[in-house]
Amino acid sequence: MTFGIDDLPVRDELRGKSPYGAPQLDVPVRLNTNENPYPLPEALVERITERVREAARDLNRYPDRDAVELRTGLAEYLTKTTGHPLDVSNVWAANGSNEVIQQLLQTFGGPGRTAIGFEPSYSMHGLIARGTGTGWISGPRHDDFTIDVPAAERAIAEHRPDVVFVTTPNNPTGNAVPAETVLALHDAAQAAKPSMVVVDEAYIEFSHGASLLPLLDGRPNLVISRTMSKAFGAAGLRLGYLAAHPAVVDAVQLVRLPYHLSAVTQATALAALEHTDTLLKYVEQLKAERDRLVAELRAVGYEVTESDANFVQFGRFADSHATWRKILDRGVLVRDNGVPGWLRVTAGTPQENDAFLDAVREVKKEQS
Ligand code: PMP
Repeated sequence: MTFGIDDLPVRDELRGKSPYGAPQLDVPVRLNTNENPYPLPEALVERITERVREAARDLNRYPDRDAVELRTGLAEYLTKTTGHPLDVSNVWAANGSNEVIQQLLQTFGGPGRTAIGFEPSYSMHGLIARGTGTGWISGPRHDDFTIDVPAAERAIAEHRPDVVFVTTPNNPTGNAVPAETVLALHDAAQAAKPSMVVVDEAYIEFSHGASLLPLLDGRPNLVISRTMSKAFGAAGLRLGYLAAHPAVVDAVQLVRLPYHLSAVTQATALAALEHTDTLLKYVEQLKAERDRLVAELRAVGYEVTESDANFVQFGRFADSHATWRKILDRGVLVRDNGVPGWLRVTAGTPQENDAFLDAVREVKKEQS
């Protein structure tokens, strides 16, 4: 018998659980984790090298604990792309939006408190809730994966959660959530408690519609979470951020670890911000490829959920895991998120998407 997790005095709520883990398999076409398929442009790689070299000279010192230059740059990016004026006091940054979400739950959730999400959605919201001792409530959706607003309002009134998560565009389904829905949930949450409403906009740059950032006006309990992992093509950088009332930024500082954002991370993210315009051009290409995937999958005869993200949910399969395996056997890794009947594919380069479409055409023929 080998010594394992169960032999350690781990917290009761972690017993028997599995860690988050999308397979990282070595296959020719990997379209399973909603990454941007384009490597950073060479000019940006050069700029990162320069900025990191400068930062390296000061690595004997702790980094800027408040990441002021970076937060200012992120505020400028948000202001420029949404038209909603923000400054450094409205923005907070951390190691990926996962850490942003963790800090929010450490601040506003925790033991004796609860958070609600409308599932299927980004599974880390529930997992981070568990990791921070926050109770998790799974809220309802319609069969077409839109949020069932009256049922959601009832769930909020009944459970009076401390944190409400809304992901738009939603992962893994791809659909965007209308502003009216977010407002309805926000109002229900304020009437019930009041509580914090966290809008996870990790994929918003790929949306046909606009960011909900302007809703921050006059709503201090609303938080918009963002990331450089998707549109900026920098998943390896680990840089997420939030926009909110300055009081929220002050509040999360009560739980952040001192110097949580390394000087190397700050330097790299600042270099990426200098190249925003080029990076957003890749986003336009990916949006076109996403729309092509939707159209082609429908032409093949699959059902497809409307997508505002850099991925597409398609189905329906009697056995989605068996179909996932058949696609993998053809050298293409997609994602089985455990949504019965559905799989998710990330928009890749045109060549990768062609390989995926060839694979699913073959699988469809075999299955019909
Ligand atoms: N939110 C959503 C909806 C996501 O899908 C992801 C990544 N898959 C994240 C947040 C976390 O991204 P990161 O920590 O890389 O910023």
